[in-house]
Amino acid sequence: MKYAFPPLTPSAIAIRGTEQLFPVHRIYCVGRNYAAHAREMGKDPDREPPFFFCKPADAVVANHATIPYPPRTSNLHHEVELVVAIGQGGRNILPADALDHVFGYAVGNDLTRRDLQNDLKNKGHPWETGKGFDHSAPVSAIQPARSKAFNHARIWLTVNGQLRQEANTAELIWSVPDILSELSALFELCPGDVIFTGTPAGVGAVKAGDRIEAGIDGLETLITTIADLAHGIHR
Ligand code: MN
Repeated sequence: MKYAFPPLTPSAIAIRGTEQLFPVHRIYCVGRNYAAHAREMGKDPDREPPFFFCKPADAVVANHATIPYPPRTSNLHHEVELVVAIGQGGRNILPADALDHVFGYAVGNDLTRRDLQNDLKNKGHPWETGKGFDHSAPVSAIQPARSKAFNHARIWLTVNGQLRQEANTAELIWSVPDILSELSALFELCPGDVIFTGTPAGVGAVKAGDRIEAGIDGLETLITTIADLAHGIHR
């Protein structure tokens, strides 16, 4: 049997210092994994643990890209996050073994149509249209770091040079081993999976023409520009 039409090329992320690409299988995301961000979202991190949601693999955007301001929102938010790239799959992974499954780390921006997400939350509806839209997952090149932790790194984000988010990955409620253990009890992890580990406090809106820089010490800085409306992007 043959495909009725050629399948699309899989999404991929650059690997720092190489000519190779990391083929993306799935994008998992952790919600409310920093206490201060849970509070700014109106939640009590002591009462509600973090949780998972997904984005489509083809939402990945390469570093230094210009992306359109997405449709059906007037409140597009930035969320800088540590991204874990999985090199070795598995199920029911123990926290003590979890780092053996890590291929490397990157900086991600979990772009969010906050107005849609808030409407969906209030109605008890799924989050996909608020979170899993086209171009919603900018990611820097992956820093290979097999079996290594990324525990104490400054994480920050600026918009047009103004600091919006600043924290430390040590503040994660679920650490990377905890996340891999929890997630692998729900889904079989596969090589090519990437996991956005949650954003610290300070999320806020970006608008057409903005330049977003997002960084984590030791990783490539992620630069994303929202296209200027004057350059033919229509909403
Ligand atoms: Mn997020």
